[in-house]
Amino acid sequence: ELANRMTERVADVVKFMMKQGEMMRANDMLDADMAELIVEEFGHTVKRVSEADVEIGLEGPDDDEGDLVGRPPVVTIMGHVDHGKTSLLDAMRSTDVVSGEAGGITQHIGAYQVTLESGDKITFLDTPGHAAFSAMRARGADITDIVIIVVAADDGVMPQTIEAISHAKAAGVPIIIAVNKIDKPEADANKVLTELLQYDIQVEAMGGEVQAIEVSAKEKMGLDNLTEAITLQAEILELQANPDRDADGVVVESQLDKGRGPVATVLVKRGTLKRGDIVVAGSQWGKVRALVNERGQQLKEAGPTVPAEILGLDGAPDPGDPFVVVDNEQRAREITEYRIRMKKQARGAGPTAKASLEQMLSRLQSGAGETSEAPLVVKGDVQGSVEAITQAVEKMSTEEVRARVIYGAVGGISESDVLLAQSSGAPIIAFNTRANKQARELAEREGVEIRYYSVIYDLIDDVRDTLSGMLAPEK
Ligand code: GDP
Repeated sequence: ELANRMTERVADVVKFMMKQGEMMRANDMLDADMAELIVEEFGHTVKRVSEADVEIGLEGPDDDEGDLVGRPPVVTIMGHVDHGKTSLLDAMRSTDVVSGEAGGITQHIGAYQVTLESGDKITFLDTPGHAAFSAMRARGADITDIVIIVVAADDGVMPQTIEAISHAKAAGVPIIIAVNKIDKPEADANKVLTELLQYDIQVEAMGGEVQAIEVSAKEKMGLDNLTEAITLQAEILELQANPDRDADGVVVESQLDKGRGPVATVLVKRGTLKRGDIVVAGSQWGKVRALVNERGQQLKEAGPTVPAEILGLDGAPDPGDPFVVVDNEQRAREITEYRIRMKKQARGAGPTAKASLEQMLSRLQSGAGETSEAPLVVKGDVQGSVEAITQAVEKMSTEEVRARVIYGAVGGISESDVLLAQSSGAPIIAFNTRANKQARELAEREGVEIRYYSVIYDLIDDVRDTLSGMLAPEK
């Protein structure tokens, strides 16, 4: 690459290195001092830039006022378990006037967009409503313009309702209350609204500014009122974006698909993403081979807040990762290599001997008084679960023990995972994924424990039990 930049022949550079007594091949890594020496020797000017400069200018220039046009709002639905988040997300799809004619089977890709009769569009983030996913939701709120908090009218304000309110408030995102299940005889919408006052949510009926809409996701009642409330709130927010520029945005979901390879659902914030664009997403990059919507249809392009799966990345980025279109592959490579280096440095795993959950935890007891770190390696089937496990496990940290996921990734367990786990004294937590034969044998040989799970609650319970068991006072 250095030879390339100097427009010199690679062989000449390698030959020069040999003369210096350095045996190197064309793709070996050079340190900065050596690179400077070479550049000067070949008669070029050296300009040293810091590593962090790699990302400079990545976001591109700010938009001119005049280029901004209205864009659809991005909505996240939150609320207590069983209050009807999933049902409401499903029901809202029925407000779409184009899906019928377009056909196709709707799939969960992490987000979907509806077009209302009025022509207005709304984008819904379709994240799982599990408690362990709250961290992801909090992250999702970064791209969320409006939060709908579902409260079941027969159950009232519950712990996760309060959690959702604090997430939305922390993110400074306006809230719309959907009082759900009003079809039930025991429904008491007024009770819900009164309870909300305690959490500083003053709805319009109570003299406040928060819109509250009564709905039944099951009977598809009140949905038009809800979409109206959303478009009204969106108008107040004056949401705008410039569609005529290179796209950037956020990854909302990703997975390794057996047939299609790495697939990431992205939401464009500004600009228009096109097939053939070169994209950097987190520490992955690729040329967009195809853009696919939630109905499995191929798109030529995706403008602001249009959810689309992109195919063609070299790996699965993390949900919440930003993505950006860059000028060329060279630039994409440079940025992702830099990001991977930074990640590796941050990881910095220390050496220890055996790695099982019990051993890891018992080692921690020795460090009386101070906080000990409990390292874990997490592998899962999709980024969403890896993320959720990481958050949930790290949340279980106590004053004495801090669980830390030193590495979390999508895919089967490989030998290199086992090696990383072994060198850090970390057990491997496998969620809906398996180890290949070589990895299994290596783990057995090296005493690295691999624990398999298919239910996230089991996993969390297990870690918690082991943790509390190990920490119980000795008799
Ligand atoms: P989530 O956990 O918040 O995603 O809740 P779900 O959407 O899974 O709904 C939980 C339960 O409530 C399911 O059995 C639904 O059928 C039921 N449910 C959801 N919305 C309504 C509604 O409007 N009316 C009635 N009667 N039941 C509902």
